Amino acid sequence: MSIATSGLEMPAFVGGTKRLLIGGEWVQAASGKAFDAVNPATGEVLARLAQAEAVDVDRAVAAARKAFEGPWSQWSHSDRQRLLIRIHDLVEKHFDELSLIETLDMGAPLMRTRGLKSFLLQQILFYASQTASCSVQTSANALPGNFSTLKIKAPVGVVAGIIPWNGPLMSQWWILGATLATGCTAVLKPAEDASLTALRMAELLLEAGLPPGVINVVTGFGTEAGSALADHPGVDRIAFTGSPETGRKIVQASSGNFKRVSVELGGKSPDIVFDDADLDKAVPGVAMGVFTNTGQICAAGTRVLVQRRIYDEFVERMTVFSRSLKIGNGLDPQVNLGPVISQRQLERVMRYVDIGGQEGAELAHGGRRLGGELASGYFIEPTVFTGVHNEMTIAREEIFGPVAAVMPFDTFDDALRIANDTNYGLAGGIWTQNLSTAHRMSRGIQAGTIWVNCYGVLDPQVGFGGYKLSGYGWKGGAEQVDSYLYQKAVYMNLG
Ligand code: ADP
Repeated sequence: MSIATSGLEMPAFVGGTKRLLIGGEWVQAASGKAFDAVNPATGEVLARLAQAEAVDVDRAVAAARKAFEGPWSQWSHSDRQRLLIRIHDLVEKHFDELSLIETLDMGAPLMRTRGLKSFLLQQILFYASQTASCSVQTSANALPGNFSTLKIKAPVGVVAGIIPWNGPLMSQWWILGATLATGCTAVLKPAEDASLTALRMAELLLEAGLPPGVINVVTGFGTEAGSALADHPGVDRIAFTGSPETGRKIVQASSGNFKRVSVELGGKSPDIVFDDADLDKAVPGVAMGVFTNTGQICAAGTRVLVQRRIYDEFVERMTVFSRSLKIGNGLDPQVNLGPVISQRQLERVMRYVDIGGQEGAELAHGGRRLGGELASGYFIEPTVFTGVHNEMTIAREEIFGPVAAVMPFDTFDDALRIANDTNYGLAGGIWTQNLSTAHRMSRGIQAGTIWVNCYGVLDPQVGFGGYKLSGYGWKGGAEQVDSYLYQKAVYMNLG
């Protein structure tokens, strides 16, 4: 569906060649190179993006450092709070445009990108509420003698934000928000597959009165712009979200100057359905726990554990539900699932579908790429594998596509053992009407977020993070804001 047939107007922002935001100016990459921003639903080129390399990253980091040491450092908490509120109001005003650009750029249906409005606004307001966190000073008189002790917090400095393509609006705000709340400055590198909303957001930041250099945006490839940021001596903190392989490289590269690092990586989360669950809620809840955003969510509940007594009924109902989902160009407001992001991702998902079959899992639904009028995009049916064993590749590796691995279990202990038998620990779901089961399982699952009788709910004030290979560092909540601050103790002998 082209933009014309959807009845929507193409945002004026889409098209042309986009530049880098460095020191408050829109500039070309030093090399003059650019690359395409592609709509994964149609294969159309939406815009050209400046291709930043190490030299551009140097400029952006220098601009961020200059801004950090400049007038921005004198801004009061309430100045920063007012800036965040002005940004909030502009984002609210332009939200329809932002969600449309996100849909065009990374494929998630309008049903999803529009649905994230209240979350995004809450995220910004949460950070607006945190601007005083770096002023927290405690004074104690616990030492013998006449001492006064102050505990002071100060912004860590220049932050490098390296984000993925699966939900750029939300991902960028974990970094923008914490940066602006604490008085840090940042260089944001959006993913090469979905950079447009970060650039449009940067325009809104400037319109709201952001001082030059406080936020800089460099578009480009991970191996060029991303790696240049990761080992840059002028960067004090890295906030990374992406794959474990890249996360490992980032952590290694960051060790040169011992940058503060947070890495939010993948997941292979269990979603456990007990035989007393309300299946009218559990079936759509579990299915959308996997298929939302076409499975491209790190916290997706891709390992579906179902108690044996209800296993057949559950599989039947999940299959019927999956069949009812509408797949297509997300500009159609009825569409539930858009394409995956790229040809590379399509091939990766189809490879896992093949491996699932080869290893003996049964395909209850889906498993095919969609052709016909969707052939020019990267569309895959929601896919339900049943009879899965937890040792199979599709139960162990993160697919990042619409593929559910459904497996039976007998007892509470079996479910817990299978749930924790994974290298990851980002999230877990539990469907039961038994309070004791819910509490015991919530304690038992080794993961950073547990959802009981729901999936995917998120509160920016609470935040989230992972266990094990899912990485470290909490995103959102006061803990994250604190991780953008240095602590300092001042002991004064008052004589
Ligand atoms: P995916 O494979 O799903 O694209 P990545 O972890 O590779 O996930 O990408 C997440 C982000 O990390 C993107 O912005 C990407 O450009 C960036 N990136 C990729 N490789 C590197 C690297 N070697 N150093 C720094 N950033 C990187």
